[in-house]
Amino acid sequence: DIKRIANIIRTQDILRRHDFNFKKKFGQNFLTDGNILSKITEAAELSKEVNVIEIGPGIGSLTQYLLEESAEVMAFEIDKTLIPILEETLADYDNFQLVNADILKVDLKAEIAKFKNPDLPIKVVANLPYYITTPILMALIESKIPFASFVVMMQKEVADRIAAKPNTKAYGSLSIAVQYYLKAEVAFNVPRTVFVPAPNVDSAILKMTRLDQPAVDVPDEDWYFRLMKLSFVHRRKTLLNNLQSAFGKDRKEEILGLLDRAGISPTARAESFDLEDFAKLSIALLPMKD
Ligand code: SAM
Repeated sequence: DIKRIANIIRTQDILRRHDFNFKKKFGQNFLTDGNILSKITEAAELSKEVNVIEIGPGIGSLTQYLLEESAEVMAFEIDKTLIPILEETLADYDNFQLVNADILKVDLKAEIAKFKNPDLPIKVVANLPYYITTPILMALIESKIPFASFVVMMQKEVADRIAAKPNTKAYGSLSIAVQYYLKAEVAFNVPRTVFVPAPNVDSAILKMTRLDQPAVDVPDEDWYFRLMKLSFVHRRKTLLNNLQSAFGKDRKEEILGLLDRAGISPTARAESFDLEDFAKLSIALLPMKD
């Protein structure tokens, strides 16, 4: 029988004994609901042949579940006052590596080489600090480390934006930036009542699975992302308007000509464009790249 960290009595006992004070600036909302933790762990589809990266282990509530189900867990925690607590709560596990660091500042490639078996696939599982969810996610994706999947808790609105499909309010550049590399789906929603302290927002578990190759084939990725982002700058405006704002009104005829040749409507709006449409756009406008 496993003595779980994640119940409200044990959590409060740990926090009290260590005289721990929650730090708002680190987005500290700890999970105390074993049922939610089981569901997160299940969504991650772990096995003893999988290494796990966790960001922000807190007092180890989720970490404990991950340790039971995976080969090894490497956790990055920014708050040094949590280190002695984690060393106590997870003392029974020999498949745990704890790094006291800001996930945005570590050399991740060097760190993951320290897994006992660095050849196993790596999955990211975390209850992310909400104040930097998007920067963390984009940094991990752009690190080009081939994480097999991400199963992460975040603010519900952000999860909805990442998983959004065209022609919805939530759809935008973040949806495309992620869906270019990963299949994204909201696994389940989480009420604010299962955390201490309760956050001001509702949460969701987002599951993202790496695609074998990027969702679309483009000749120039930087150009693709640049055009995609600038097409969304003024959401309510037409594609032509956004392109003119970016490249200058004097280039209207040139833009119209290139769009026309590719069969792209200048009055379309970015929110109706899927990843394929943006690929087409980026190819059509390649002559404009400086
Ligand atoms: N995993 C724990 C749980 O589920 O109960 C805690 C989750 S809490 C929402 C976020 C955790 O991330 C906190 O422990 C916080 O100290 C840590 N954290 C915040 N910013 C961080 C950063 N830049 N790098 C690493 N950890 C960070």
